[in-house]
Amino acid sequence: MIVMKFGGSSVANATAMSRVLDIIEEAAARDRVIVVSSAISGCTDALLAIAREQDPEKAINALQDKHLAIIRRLFTGKEREETTADCLDTFSEIRRIPPVLESYGEVLSTRILARKLSGEGYATKWLDSRELILTEPGEGSVGGPVRLEHTCERIRKALDASPSTRIFVAPGFIAGDTSRRVITLGRGGSDYSAAIFAAACGKADLQIWTDVPGIMTTNPKVVPAARTIATMSYRAAFDMARYGAKVLYAPTVVPARDKGIDINIRNTFDPANPGTVICGKASEVREWKGVANLDDPISGTTLICLTGEGPINAESTYRRILTALSDAGIRPLDEVRDEDCLNFFVTVRTNVSRAAVAAIHREFFEERALTTVDVYIAGAGAVGTALKGIIDAAGGKFPDAGRQINLVEISSDRGFADKVIATARRRSVFVDCTNSKEIWRKFVPLMQAGVNIVTSNRRSLAIPYPDYAALKAAASENGCFFRYDTTVGNALPILESVAGGARFGGGITCIEAVVSCTLNYIITGYDGTRSDSFATLLKRAQEEGLTEKDPRTDLAGKDALRKLLILSREAGVKLEEKDVEIIPMLGPEFFEGSVEDFYRKLVEDEPYFIKREDELDEMGMRQRFVASLRRDPSAPGGFKAEIRMKLVGVESPFYWISGTENVTVIHYGESLPLVIKGAGEGAALAASGILRNILQ
Ligand code: ADP
Ligand code: ASP
Ligand code: MG
Repeated sequence: MIVMKFGGSSVANATAMSRVLDIIEEAAARDRVIVVSSAISGCTDALLAIAREQDPEKAINALQDKHLAIIRRLFTGKEREETTADCLDTFSEIRRIPPVLESYGEVLSTRILARKLSGEGYATKWLDSRELILTEPGEGSVGGPVRLEHTCERIRKALDASPSTRIFVAPGFIAGDTSRRVITLGRGGSDYSAAIFAAACGKADLQIWTDVPGIMTTNPKVVPAARTIATMSYRAAFDMARYGAKVLYAPTVVPARDKGIDINIRNTFDPANPGTVICGKASEVREWKGVANLDDPISGTTLICLTGEGPINAESTYRRILTALSDAGIRPLDEVRDEDCLNFFVTVRTNVSRAAVAAIHREFFEERALTTVDVYIAGAGAVGTALKGIIDAAGGKFPDAGRQINLVEISSDRGFADKVIATARRRSVFVDCTNSKEIWRKFVPLMQAGVNIVTSNRRSLAIPYPDYAALKAAASENGCFFRYDTTVGNALPILESVAGGARFGGGITCIEAVVSCTLNYIITGYDGTRSDSFATLLKRAQEEGLTEKDPRTDLAGKDALRKLLILSREAGVKLEEKDVEIIPMLGPEFFEGSVEDFYRKLVEDEPYFIKREDELDEMGMRQRFVASLRRDPSAPGGFKAEIRMKLVGVESPFYWISGTENVTVIHYGESLPLVIKGAGEGAALAASGILRNILQ
């Protein structure tokens, strides 16, 4: 059985009713149907007003005309005559102003629907809800609690009595109480009627058709940015409904929940939209569902309720609600309260309630507007391409950072920086993923044009100290950022730790680093498997792009030198290249002649290398190429910087290193050192570090 309830606006006029008829016919093609309908829009209010009026004739005529106009549009000939006569009969009853006058609206609308469906050739039966739905006596015209089991039995009997009926039509909202008086189920009660009919059928397909696409994150008439909630638990739907989401009458949830029936809220004006499914399965993740509000006209205050599927952290929710309100200039009238960390309440004056709901909705349900940043990538090599890949994969959106990256261009052209200087908007970001020796000369003009700079290129930092200082000064003068965290240790948080340690905690006393991926690769490979000769390993490193064109540049410690310069300056030490003592890992004879000569010499000397390794093994030591900066009052500048092979024992953080791993040890005063260890290589990692610099 399909139970379909249509609300007042769904049957407001002939056009809307025709749409409803199409929806019913589509369902009737699949299964038997019970149609439950509200009165036409505004009818219940009109009847209530009529009951109060001294001279209601004019209002009664207006309401009658509305119904007759619908009948004229939907019917012709004999059907029109019969339906009109039926309608006029009901109106003559209305003219006598019987008690519970508002109960007639649903009778009027459903009689029209039933006659139309029957005219279309469906075996149709109108059911009188007043005789089927039984309640305890209630207050005034609203009945007391529904006697569900008894009611279900009566409904089942009525259905069983008409086995050949395809479509039943029943008025919503109205019922009878145990003293046989007509009563209503309360305003909005047609939803409840539908759930009761569904419960009587056991497992029914319960659909509530209205004028919005389901239960939304808040009333879309107040906040146009409201979104449909695809699925929610009975509990959340019940709470949103009872705290003011008028789209669903709260008691509706009870029989559905008790019988395990899903409630599907649909939009009559957009039948293809799947709407909301309310079911027993609460979402597995904690999440916010919606915000509703209840006005109290007497005190002029409004209770706002934020509902989640939880339990959700209370402290942070309180804070978010209060901040959202205060940002909107709204002072709450009481403290934020919660109910089991599922519903969160705050009260405001009704005259600001719309703004308050909008503010809370914005905070919890709307994507914050992202600030757009124009990004230019210089260098379309492995790192630049990986960075582009990350940005593209995210569609440029980084909501956690509140940023949307607009990747304007990635280029390896020599003139690219000049082009950016000429065309970029202020606050753009220029990313140097090149290994150019000269590109840093464009940084000052870039910053003067208001362009921020992120670089992963060590050569842009390992420049004479006065030039380095000028870049720093240009950044601060022009209000730009100049970030280069990936120049040492790739994505490892080395530079930030050094900078932090230099500023706080009494300064750095010593930094030791094994930062040259190339040399690590060779050295650790050599003392690892021992299956490859030194020359073979070096060749392979060269093939993998880990070394410079002449691998001797790496062996000479050039790359380690650049890193040590950057590290030292970050620690506040004004180091120049000439201040660093470098002892290359091979003797001077290796640095003479061509690369071929060099490889030949390596092969010749292999027996010596092996012998040396064996000696070290005997001693339980290993060789590491270590760059270090150590506080030394006797050294010029107070620090001694050197790069050389060191023997380390098993107690050293440098002992266990494999592949291209980096290890940096930072000593602060007397405290235990900070050891940062991890992957020092890889374009994707570098790109992620650069991205962090762009977004931070
Ligand atoms: P019907 O006549 O179909 O029963 P109602 O007027 O009772 O319709 O309920 C639908 C209305 O509920 C919508 O038009 C909308 O303005 C209002 N509403 C309030 N809160 C919500 C919400 N959270 N989601 C959707 N609609 C809501
Ligand atoms: N017609 C009734 C009302 O306006 C019931 C309903 O629409 O659900 O309250
Ligand atoms: Mg309603």
